[in-house]
Order: sequence, then C-alpha cells, then structure tokens
Amino acid sequence: MCHALLSDSTLWKLLSRFDEDLAADVRERGCRCGGALHSASYPRKPRGALSDPGPEYCRRLSLCCARDGCRKRSTPPSVRFLGRRVYLGAVVVLASALREGITARRAEDLRSLLGVGLRTLRRWRTWWRGAFLESGLWKGVRGRFLPPLDVDTLPASLLERFSGDDRTRLIQALALISPLTTAAGTSAMVVLDPQRMHLVPGSCDS
Ligand SMILES: [Zn+2]
Repeated sequence: MCHALLSDSTLWKLLSRFDEDLAADVRERGCRCGGALHSASYPRKPRGALSDPGPEYCRRLSLCCARDGCRKRSTPPSVRFLGRRVYLGAVVVLASALREGITARRAEDLRSLLGVGLRTLRRWRTWWRGAFLESGLWKGVRGRFLPPLDVDTLPASLLERFSGDDRTRLIQALALISPLTTAAGTSAMVVLDPQRMHLVPGSCDS
C-alpha cells in the first residue's frame, strides 16, 4: 500500500486540488478584519514522494490580509503538508501505519525507500499516541468512531475505519487531520465534505 500510493502521481494531483479548494474557502471568507486575503505561500521542499509530485508541492498555500495595519496570515488546512514536517502528510500517515511495528529490517527498508530514519519514525509514532490524542481536533472527532478507534494502533486503525480503496481511505485520513496543519488546528475542526471526497477521484482525468 505504502509504495504504490507514494508513487501514484494522480494522488499528488488530487491532494493539490483539495488544498486549492481549502485555500479558496479561506480566501472567500476573507480576513476577520474584513480585509481581502492575498496569496502568501510558504516555500517547501517536500520529502518522501516516490514519484515527482509536481512544482505545486514547492509551496504550502497560505494567505495574508491585504489591509494595512492588519496583514494577518491565514493558513488553510492542508491534506498535503502536516504542519512543518518536511515529509509529506501521506508519508507520515502511511509509514506510521505499518502494522508490524518498527523492526530493524523494516526501518532499513523505509530508510532506503523514503529516506525516513528510525528516530523520525519513532517521533511520528510518539506524536500519534501523544500530541495527536491530546489535540482538540481528536477530542472533537473521536466520538464519531463507533466502536471507538484503537488508539494504540493509530493511524492504522484510522485508515481501516474508512471505506473505499487504499487511496480514498488515505485521503479521508489526511482530510480528517488537516486542521492540525493550521495555527487554529488544536481548537478548530474542519472536515472535508464526504460527498465531495467520493467525487474528487473522478474529476482527476483532465
Ligand atoms: Zn485583516
């Protein structure tokens, strides 16, 4: 699952479209001061993709108020980037979801395949079972999973709970955690419309 998805260039395109939609929503709402939001993306050098994700992955979409005296930044949720991590969100989810745990052999595979070191992997696992569980986002959404998710096997238990093929389940998981990529992420909950989630793969042909 890991290798096939991370080589799938249509996945990168889909995720970019989601990020553009999320940014468009934020731009439409405008700044809290009433000012218009202009593009002010952050440069990124994403790691972990096994096929070229395209030039649009060199920037993390962000917006900035155009009004003098405000200039407040509004960073939309992202299904591509997970906070400030250099690895793509998809890599963080898939590498952390390996059921077998971190054996020496598997760690070596991940290092040669994705360039992810053992310490990074352990840090991600610690994050899933610690900071993630403490987040306002998780506390807001955990009740939607019945029976409750097995938090000891996150994010594998999360991926398993969604329906559809591997790619759809990955996108749903990325959408669920996407608010964590914003400054307000710990207190705000933004979940992509599930209806739209199903429609998007079909719109990828153009
Ligand atoms: Zn403003």
